[in-house]
Amino acid sequence: MESNVFIGHHCPRCNTTVGTYASVGSVPTCPGCGGPLQAAPGGPQTQVLVNVVCGGCGSRFGMVSVVGGEAKCPSCGKNLKE
Ligand SMILES: [Zn+2]
Ligand SMILES: [Zn+2]
Repeated sequence: MESNVFIGHHCPRCNTTVGTYASVGSVPTCPGCGGPLQAAPGGPQTQVLVNVVCGGCGSRFGMVSVVGGEAKCPSCGKNLKE
């Protein structure tokens, strides 16, 4: 299953900032109150995809980090989250 790691997200409900949060196949939620986490204001969202397989060419990637954009396959250019 696809897992994402969200970096620098914060919870607007209880004002908790989460440095690193791993989520498997779902929306990231606050470890404090269970509310939805949002990307921290003032900076681009950073996502690290772990153990993804490209749907275009089948390449496997142990870890792909993306800042402020979408993760694309370096081999064929397909969006890795599709
Ligand atoms: Zn919270
Ligand atoms: Zn590819």
